[in-house]
Order: sequence, then C-alpha cells, then structure tokens
Amino acid sequence: MKEIRLDKFLGEMGIGTRSQIKEMAKKGRISVDGVPEKKTDRKIDPEQVEVTVDARKIAYAAFEYYMLNKPQGVVSATEDRRYETVVGLIGDRMRDDLFPVGRLDIDTEGLILITNDGDLTHQLLSPKKHVDKVYFAKIEGDLPFDAKEQIEQGIELLDGTPTLPAKLEVLKVGTLSEIRLTIREGKFHQVKRMFETLGCNVVYLKRLSMGSLQLDETLEPGEYRPLHQEELEELK
Ligand code: URA
Repeated sequence: MKEIRLDKFLGEMGIGTRSQIKEMAKKGRISVDGVPEKKTDRKIDPEQVEVTVDARKIAYAAFEYYMLNKPQGVVSATEDRRYETVVGLIGDRMRDDLFPVGRLDIDTEGLILITNDGDLTHQLLSPKKHVDKVYFAKIEGDLPFDAKEQIEQGIELLDGTPTLPAKLEVLKVGTLSEIRLTIREGKFHQVKRMFETLGCNVVYLKRLSMGSLQLDETLEPGEYRPLHQEELEELK
C-alpha cells in the first residue's frame, strides 16, 4: 500500500490527535520495527512495518464495517452538537474516518451500516443501483383499500415528487396497523411521506435490511457488531 505519515496512520487507528501522538513519540512510547521513533512525520507503509505504542502492536485495518441497530434519539451523522451520533456508538472502532451509509431519521430505528469504505457506500446509495431497503412500520389511520396497488404502481408524494414502484405487505390491520415496505430509493423522509400521501401517519419506523444485509435481530437498539465476512462478500 501507499506510504503514509506515521502520525496520520496512528490517528486513523484512533490512537490520538496529531499533537498527542507527537507527545507520545517524544516520550519514546512509539516504535517502528522495535526502534523508538520520535519523528511522527516519517512516512511508513503500515503493511510492511510493525508499529507499536507502549509495546502494543497497532494492527492496520484499511476498512471497518459495523452493523448497528440504531436506537431512537441518535442522529445518522459523524458529529453533532446536540445529539449522540451513530458513529459515536461504535465504541470498538479503530479508525477515525467512519461514517454511516445513508441516513435514518432521528426517531427511526434499525439497520445502519457504519464504515469508511467509500466505494461500497457509493454502490449502496447510488440512485442508479436501486438497492432494496425494507422497513417495518406502525401506521395510524386507515390505509386506502388499494394502498398495495397504488404503492406498486409508484405514488406521487404530496409535493408532486414521484416515487418508484415499491412493495407493500400489510401484516396487521387495526388502530395501529403494521406493514412491511420495500423501496428501491432513499428520498428524504420517504416512507413517512409515502404514507402521508395515503392519508396515514407513521408512528414507528424500523429498517430491517439494505440490499443483502439484514439486521441481526439479536442486536438490541444501540448494539452493534462487525459484519461477518460472508455478509460483506454478499454485499459487495
Ligand atoms: N423513510 C423515512 O421516512 N425515514 C427514515 O428514517 C427512513 C426512510
């Protein structure tokens, strides 16, 4: 791989800020191939040399991939002044350049992929790729008798924005109906706006899958785990 600065490498691996790393190096805490290194702007190839901090080997991870069951009240962002972020929930992360793949509203729960892999992100989010996203929702208000057909044909949102044909499964009908909706695009507040168009109100929304990636139902809201190798291969 390309050579990068020692402080950049250690920063990406979550060891500290550039100035913290400089301080650590001054104190002799950072070594390259067993030799203490004070020059933190030195270029290294992380795949060719062994870097240690306090004698602990710093493993190089080019990419990280986590699935998070996003809880309500957390924003799909890397940083936020007011709210906790989905990236902040990944306590085990090594790299400092992780981001969420797409957005869920603050009150939406469920699957969100957190990574630093820009190519995969593009594949999953590009409007041209039409990756399926499946949502479970609880809905207030009566669904029109032909809701399935309307959604299958593609509806026009209240502001005139057209949506692509989607799939609606009605799981339970009542004062709070339950549905599963599969959409192939990701317009702003799309699911809520689709039901608004049908005269209903989404009161609970959870994403179950994105492409081949399914939410691990053993993850409670707020819990996460690294993707399994097979999940990653299938997704790519
Ligand atoms: N559609 C919405 O309305 N909200 C989400 O968070 C995701 C899809």
